[in-house]
Amino acid sequence: MTLRPIVTVPDPVLRRKARPVTRFDSDLQTLVDDMIETMRAAPGVGLAAPQVGVSERVIVVEYPEDDEDEDAPKKLFVVVNPEIRQRSQEKEIAVEACLSIPGLQGEVERDLAITVRGQTRRGQPIKIKAKGWLARIFQHEIDHLDGVLYTDRALRVWQPTEPVEDNV
Ligand code: ZN
Repeated sequence: MTLRPIVTVPDPVLRRKARPVTRFDSDLQTLVDDMIETMRAAPGVGLAAPQVGVSERVIVVEYPEDDEDEDAPKKLFVVVNPEIRQRSQEKEIAVEACLSIPGLQGEVERDLAITVRGQTRRGQPIKIKAKGWLARIFQHEIDHLDGVLYTDRALRVWQPTEPVEDNV
């Protein structure tokens, strides 16, 4: 596994619509392994392939499934070609930050619960039900695949005085 440099704004790859993955070959496996290592080293709780300069529809997320249980173990999700299929009516505003936009954070309204469909790194279909922070991370990462940054959606953006946790 190799740490890859994280691309930051205004790199145009962050604004491109990423290509669907069609080949689940060794290059994809290497990309996924490198993304996991890069996310953990950042540290971050999610990473999308365009953030390491690869315009393909791959995301990795590592976060507890139930964020109301403080002792819940982190779970690693790798989703290829992710799509949001169902969204809750209920929304929530919270503060986000992005590894590709250093030195800023902002308040973003997101759907409270979503269902994500996609494929595993081996091409098998998967479905993930996410709520709360986990749902927020998935929405943030899937936005990256469409060239959308949280600052596009933010109600307000500012420079934090303390380091930001849970970067995505
Ligand atoms: Zn981000």
